[in-house]
Amino acid sequence: MKYRLPGIPGFCLILAACGDSATNSAPVVESAPAPEPATTRDAIAGVLHEHTSILASDEFEGRAPATRGGQLTIDYLTEQFAAVGAGPGNGDSYTQQVDVVEITATTDPVLQFSGSFDASPAYKTEMVIGSRRHDSPIVVDDSEVVFVGYGINAPERGWNDYANIDAAGKTVIVLVNDPGYATGDPELFNGNAMTWYGRWVYKFEEAARQGAAGILIVHETGPAGYGWDVVDNSWSGPQITLAAENGNSHLAPIEGWLTLETANALFAAAGMDYEEMKAQAAVPGFSAVPLGDIRASMSVETAARGSSSQNVIAAIPGSTRPDESIIYTAHWDHLGMVADMEGDNIWNGAVDNATGTGALLALAELHLEQPAPPERTVVFLAVTAEESGLLGSQWYVENPVYPIETTVANINMDALNTWGRVRDIVVIGHGSSELEDYLADAVVSQDRTIVPEPTPERGFYYRSDHFNFARAGVPSLYAEGGTDSRENGNDWGVEQSEDYVANRYHAPGDEYDPDWDLTGAAEDVLLYFEIGNRLANETNWPEWYEGNEFKETRDASAAARD
Ligand SMILES: [Zn+2]
Repeated sequence: MKYRLPGIPGFCLILAACGDSATNSAPVVESAPAPEPATTRDAIAGVLHEHTSILASDEFEGRAPATRGGQLTIDYLTEQFAAVGAGPGNGDSYTQQVDVVEITATTDPVLQFSGSFDASPAYKTEMVIGSRRHDSPIVVDDSEVVFVGYGINAPERGWNDYANIDAAGKTVIVLVNDPGYATGDPELFNGNAMTWYGRWVYKFEEAARQGAAGILIVHETGPAGYGWDVVDNSWSGPQITLAAENGNSHLAPIEGWLTLETANALFAAAGMDYEEMKAQAAVPGFSAVPLGDIRASMSVETAARGSSSQNVIAAIPGSTRPDESIIYTAHWDHLGMVADMEGDNIWNGAVDNATGTGALLALAELHLEQPAPPERTVVFLAVTAEESGLLGSQWYVENPVYPIETTVANINMDALNTWGRVRDIVVIGHGSSELEDYLADAVVSQDRTIVPEPTPERGFYYRSDHFNFARAGVPSLYAEGGTDSRENGNDWGVEQSEDYVANRYHAPGDEYDPDWDLTGAAEDVLLYFEIGNRLANETNWPEWYEGNEFKETRDASAAARD
């Protein structure tokens, strides 16, 4: 019999193969003919249309965590996983509670420089600062200001910007991105491609490890990958962090950003040229320098409010090695709605990421259509609070249901292609792990080619949920359909992609369109299925490629995979 729980009606993915099971409670017979590939593809496209249209409808209010729309989403996913016959993935539950704390500034934070730079940059237009600590007020008084270059401590690269300075109690000024990007030198870090050390998340963490009282990153549009408006929008509103027993006392008291103009003035007041100091910071052996007699005082008043949301988890238990798992992820959340805004006030998040969430359900169906259950456990994890900083996946990785050491792989989906079949598939973070070899095998049947991401300097690899798995050492694959349209060529595909980024990405216009051609997205889903299904029925453990920044973490738990 087919591996489908009998008696559970659900809409049907493989039309040719399971037409009976939706209406009959009897198990489908084994001899059902294998579907034609195009039939399968079109059926998956139909499934993606259905889920995306529902999840991105106004009824779901933009799927913000801890809202009515968020709860509707959790309920919908739970029902749909059950309907296709995927069991609960967290014991007997389909959900995993994620506790978060929302921290909101109650007054405009103040930054006052003194000494040679007597200035108080304006909040939002010249600087943003805040605190993710749970107590309030947070005050840093008269701290020495130090330029620590890129703020990187990378022992495996013999690079430590903090080597000659004690940053404890000081305010550190840090450059965005990394020396490889700055110089274009392929021998330095990963050249033009942003490394983990280039991300603001890392820089904040490292400054805290060094005991800094404050960290201010200098914003530049090129190396950051986004304009100041994004910094302003994302840091001046409420900050959501995971609940932590220590009240986030492990984070630096004050975190923030300076505009390039503010930084130029700051360095000039210290008798330095910002561009010159930036150039020095990219030279191996750079030494941190105090900015003369300049000091910074900062104060932030906040209110903290606890709330919770849910990851949704479904699983197909492995028949012979249930502790070994393949985990598909997609974030179900989006940006929600603004109650009193005029016009369209719902950020529907149709592409981002109703499509990926729908794909999780489609993948569950594909795996359940197999003639036998998988040898390893296959997990479908729809995570919450991705838009708040990858929090749902971080919570899962810190509180895993399936052991991290024996999680074989993570395959992540975030924003699928809506413009039809393409010849290419883009691997974000190309050159990371042997999962790319699996993908290379899989694309042959679709006559497609793998291409590296066009803008690795923007650090997209660090901006979706697979990254939390990668940090924990789990080989992770994050790919997207490319732009080389089979019907209309590459230029047209690039236009579609650019049009989405410019006009709909993270905007109320990211709405469902029944005219979308989701056959390309369906082909991507088939690739992920092929990889996941192969991994689920073999004993191999794909590894990070040599030189990858997460290889060491994975290797440390090698004994668990003997
Ligand atoms: Zn997304």
